[in-house]
Amino acid sequence: MAEVLSFTKRKPCPVCHKPSDPKHHPFCSARCREVDLNRWLGGHYAIPAVEQDEEMPGGPDGD
Ligand SMILES: [Zn+2]
Repeated sequence: MAEVLSFTKRKPCPVCHKPSDPKHHPFCSARCREVDLNRWLGGHYAIPAVEQDEEMPGGPDGD
């Protein structure tokens, strides 16, 4: 019964909540590790290389 806990023992990346990578534990990548580090050091959240490619569907131009 307690065995099932070993499957959920691995916590997700605290930064982006993806499954963490043992190589970058407890983060999923070196990037997330730096993000978390910067968060502590700088006191502000700074994500490098933010790519937001969200285009507005259609246009607000009615008629
Ligand atoms: Zn991550």
